[in-house]
Amino acid sequence: MDYPDHFDVIVIGGGHAGTEAALASARMGVKTLLLTHNIETLGQMSCNPAIGGIGKSHLVKEIDALDGAMARATDLGGIQFRTLNARKGPAVRATRAQADRILYKAAVRNILENQPHLQIFQQAADDLIIKGEKVAGVVTQSGIRFQAKTVVLTAGTFLGGVIHIGLEHYQGGRAGDPPAIALARRLREMPFRVERLKTGTPPRIDARSVDFSVMQAQPGDTPTPVMSYMGNVTDHPQQVSCHITYTNAQTHEIIRGGLDRSPMYSGVIEGIGPRYCPSIEDKIHRFADKDQHQIFVEPEGLTTHELYPNGISTSLPFDVQLNLVRSIKGFENAHITRPGYAIEYDYFNPQDLKHTLETRFISGLYFAGQINGTTGYEEAGAQGLLAGMNAALQVQEKAQWYPRRDEAYLGVLVDDLITHGTSEPYRMFTSRAEYRLVLREDNADMRLTEKGRELGLVSDERWQAFDRKREAVEQEKQRLETTYIQPNSPESAKLAEKLTKPLSREYSLADLIRRPELGYVDLCELRGEGVTDPAVAEQVEVAFKYAGYIERQRGEIEQMRKQENTPLPADLDYVQVGGLSNELRSKLEAVKPVSIAQAARIQGMTPAAISLLLVHLKKRQ
Ligand code: FAD
Repeated sequence: MDYPDHFDVIVIGGGHAGTEAALASARMGVKTLLLTHNIETLGQMSCNPAIGGIGKSHLVKEIDALDGAMARATDLGGIQFRTLNARKGPAVRATRAQADRILYKAAVRNILENQPHLQIFQQAADDLIIKGEKVAGVVTQSGIRFQAKTVVLTAGTFLGGVIHIGLEHYQGGRAGDPPAIALARRLREMPFRVERLKTGTPPRIDARSVDFSVMQAQPGDTPTPVMSYMGNVTDHPQQVSCHITYTNAQTHEIIRGGLDRSPMYSGVIEGIGPRYCPSIEDKIHRFADKDQHQIFVEPEGLTTHELYPNGISTSLPFDVQLNLVRSIKGFENAHITRPGYAIEYDYFNPQDLKHTLETRFISGLYFAGQINGTTGYEEAGAQGLLAGMNAALQVQEKAQWYPRRDEAYLGVLVDDLITHGTSEPYRMFTSRAEYRLVLREDNADMRLTEKGRELGLVSDERWQAFDRKREAVEQEKQRLETTYIQPNSPESAKLAEKLTKPLSREYSLADLIRRPELGYVDLCELRGEGVTDPAVAEQVEVAFKYAGYIERQRGEIEQMRKQENTPLPADLDYVQVGGLSNELRSKLEAVKPVSIAQAARIQGMTPAAISLLLVHLKKRQ
């Protein structure tokens, strides 16, 4: 049947990409349908119930700055929060939260169900309606035809999903969920380049069968960090500790003994797995000289005994899993509640996408999340938001938007994927960003919220809170710049305890905060003045302390933007560009960079080749 209502945007899949995509387009006021296998699994964490971490929390904060759901759900579901790299510079500082998977899912569902302009429908999407070279809707498993102007596909690990435990395998989207076979077949008939990747998960363990007394406890940080700019520690549920234990020589021996029945080492699995989240059998093989590997024993929630042993992801047969788990200190009597497994799935070469995540071959069709070759909830959520937002912009007949590499980690993520493609699951790291000092997790709102408001993504409530914060930061910066401390004054005497040399002349507070011995708190104590909001204080402190470095980075960005502003026409015939090597010519044809700056990032591109492009562009004018 034809469903009577027509939609502006249909999002297929209610995982992390799908929920952010659907929320983004609905926030922008366009009529959105979220079509997913099962309403009960909206916002489900397929693997570890944890959000954030190095590079990843930057993405979560960017989603939050654009009013997405992930950070707010984390604050409502987080049961252990930590600041990583706390002693390092602000560029690489990151927030990580262990979440209660039930509370997290409930928070996401609550946000979805209360979002105006958004409807949810439970059923598998089996086909896309394509008219000419444009998407026109979706056909579900039972033959319901939903018409739409745009479609965002976020099918995660479900397309052609095959689950492996030892040498046994069966079709599945993740444990307990069906795969998307019909849709995968249909997509393979389209011109996209499809490959296989794999990922895995550890067995889960019943906490009642674990001896925590022999493990090292790891409580969360105090004061407890928050994930959302709108969040508050009072949003958090009860906080609990994680624990740490280790594999040992016996564990490694058990694993080696089972490798002949490993789907990875017997060649059954062909897809490449996540390099930075390897299975335990992979770690034993690759780091043969190591006699132990760390395991973080993480609770799955407050109302369950299930534990996630982070570090022993495996697809070995169940008997080997049980033996290896029981060889670990504290797990001697462990009961496994769910076996670990690996999953292989279809992903699409992201080089077939535009920076807006619209596909190059079918207009109005966007891809986001794991299907673009990434791994992780944060990477998926950020792409979902971008795709949903651009689908809505297309419906509104407005210009598409995506952040540049110097504006957001989301810009880095998308540009990396589209420029280089990926042959292994891509995860975010701070090292992927060349302008780390301006792309901090503490300033994602300062970088993006105004743009989000302009695009129609940001609510009045967030906008007002942001505006107040921005104003407070500016006022406080001004106060520091215009408040002076005189030598031989009572304040100067107080400072003498902290400084190596007493003040010899008048200094502004802005000058003083730049000194390594002094922080914002010291200046507040000095005169009994200052802001109490830690987020405002952080902005002020970073702005002054790192002013020189930030300035230098801004200069580099300026330089780069001059090049970035030189667009490369979509119809540019690279055969006509004299002097280019065949290799570079075919890379340029494949990537079709939108600017000189993007062309410059193609692997193997040389300054000489860029000059040839610039000369060619000049000649064309
Ligand atoms: P998903 O979260 O997979 O969501 C896809 C959604 O689409 C689901 O709701 C599904 O029901 C729905 N769907 C699919 N097809 C259809 C259809 N045809 N019709 C309707 N609905 C459909 N990430 C890490 O960072 N580290 C890890 O170690 C890690 N290990 C993992 C281990 C396993 C076993 C799995 C399954 C995933 C793992 N991940 C890991 C990946 C992480 O789960 C994903 O990166 C993240 O969930 C991707 O989000 P997504 O929204 O793209 O897809």
